[in-house]
Amino acid sequence: MSKNLLSPRALRARAKKIRLLAMDVDGVLTEGSIIVLESGEEIKFWNVKDRIAFFMLKKFDGLFKVAWITGRKSRQVKDRSREVGVCALYQHCDHKGKALLETMARCKVKPEETLFIGDDLVDLPAFREAGLAVCPADAHPAIKRVAHWITPSAGGRGVFRDVADFVLESQGLMGRLIERFEYPDRR
Ligand SMILES: [Mg+2]
Repeated sequence: MSKNLLSPRALRARAKKIRLLAMDVDGVLTEGSIIVLESGEEIKFWNVKDRIAFFMLKKFDGLFKVAWITGRKSRQVKDRSREVGVCALYQHCDHKGKALLETMARCKVKPEETLFIGDDLVDLPAFREAGLAVCPADAHPAIKRVAHWITPSAGGRGVFRDVADFVLESQGLMGRLIERFEYPDRR
């Protein structure tokens, strides 16, 4: 098991500071299955719980930034990243640690304000840079060993929703968010 896993209290303390939520795509936002068409175009399966999580964070008017850093490349990822308001998208990325550092500099956030979600070995360099390293329940054992938190959900089953819920709860923003959903006409 993980040598870095944090206690619930320590985890909440770190989640309180988070402003940038960066993540891998395959195996985190999807369960990892990809249909490759003859044209080379890729089709992935997404989870609506995660989709809502991106819109939940957007309700806080720029307080949170979201970045996707993936080793693969597909038009579907580009389109979807635009739809959910991702501020930095890296595709075909062969050094996720560098990409994360660049994103942190661009978003003007410190390591302790940065969270990264990854599920496999290629995510390890980004884990080193982030103040809070998170992985899905079905991540590779080497990733689980260094993660600060392992989400209850497996990849593609609402991992990002687990993370967004936890960050918002830790920052005391969940009540306000629920009110905004309950009374959409109120500002
Ligand atoms: Mg992955």
